[in-house]
Amino acid sequence: MSAARYADGMSHISENFTAIKLQIRKAEKQAGREEGAVRLVAVSKTQTIQAIEEALFSGHRLFGENKVQEAQDHWAVLKEKHQDIKLHLIGPLQTNKAKEAVTLFDCIETVDREKLADVLAAEMKKQGRDLPCFIQVNTGEEDQKAGVLPEDLETLYRHCQSIGLNITGLMCIPPLDEPPALHFALLAKLAKSLSLQELSMGMSADFLKAIPLGATYVRVGTALFGNRY
Ligand SMILES: *Cc1c(COP(=O)(O)O)cnc(C)c1O
Repeated sequence: MSAARYADGMSHISENFTAIKLQIRKAEKQAGREEGAVRLVAVSKTQTIQAIEEALFSGHRLFGENKVQEAQDHWAVLKEKHQDIKLHLIGPLQTNKAKEAVTLFDCIETVDREKLADVLAAEMKKQGRDLPCFIQVNTGEEDQKAGVLPEDLETLYRHCQSIGLNITGLMCIPPLDEPPALHFALLAKLAKSLSLQELSMGMSADFLKAIPLGATYVRVGTALFGNRY
């Protein structure tokens, strides 16, 4: 986007939402996917409340946050006001934050170990909240990245099933230096092997590549809100 577009000092968040949603609809069509098959998770981490209010004003209701504390700051009050807001946790979760996460979020996308699955399942039972969860897969097998290794996915999935944690899909963040499509294709294959419906993959730079490969959720931040500060 050119600097000139912002020369009036206004943000263009609602225009960005319209443009990105149009791109998603077009990519769905080109890929022969049903209209609405791909849902937009608007990633609001590090954004101001004003920017978030603008996104809400545009009519959007599905958001993603990567930290529990920041998500509470952003959303605890707004979620009371707009009961139709849905919030996905897309960042790593410490077990000592599971209670707050289960209270605030509507989907946990980053289940990646048995201990976390156990704590989440117990907390959901306690709170009477049966949230859908995704397993995060470290498709690039990167040391520093969260997510279960592809070879350990099935064991973790079976464990989640055995404790009644409602796993409905998979999520990945491809390595920065590799073609993302390879990782999207791998994630789709893994989901198919476990008959899981949901695929959370694709961010600002590559969500259009994730759509033909089966994404049901794309997680887009900067392309909607502008740069993070
Ligand atoms: C920040 C973040 C995104 C959004 O990234 P953009 O490049 O700003 O679209 C998506 N997924 C996860 C897990 C993130 O942490």
